[in-house]
Amino acid sequence: MLNNIKKAFKLQLPEIRFISSDRFYWAPETKTIYYDKKSRGNTADLALLHEISHAKLKHTAYRSDFSLIQLEVDAWEEAKKIANELGIKINLNHIEDCLDTYRDWMAKRSQCPNCGIRNLQQADLTQYSCYNCHSKWKVTPSRFCRPYRAIV
Ligand SMILES: [Zn+2]
Ligand SMILES: [Zn+2]
Repeated sequence: MLNNIKKAFKLQLPEIRFISSDRFYWAPETKTIYYDKKSRGNTADLALLHEISHAKLKHTAYRSDFSLIQLEVDAWEEAKKIANELGIKINLNHIEDCLDTYRDWMAKRSQCPNCGIRNLQQADLTQYSCYNCHSKWKVTPSRFCRPYRAIV
């Protein structure tokens, strides 16, 4: 199915490149969709549709972890639409799991390692500082579509 999906979108989105990789993600800087060519089945189809949705919606940048989550939600909404059009089954539980992975990850990053309080992210995407105890800690910059659990 991955090949059929790719074919359909090569026409619709001629500026987007597809490159095989060991996971699925969208790289806005190079307008490239990386996909795991070894993965199969519905989850793989949905993962590819999700990345195509980021590309279609022209997702390029985000200012905070919160807006990243919003982009993820938007990309899944678009992926559901495309799945309907292509007759691909939509596994809502899987989509919720993916979004939860992001939410959990965000919650962990924003928790102060010193006092345990949750903080909002600051303007700098790579550093938090605690409003309660004033500790500072570094986080890796977030990116679209972190690798999820192994896709079966
Ligand atoms: Zn603190
Ligand atoms: Zn995504």
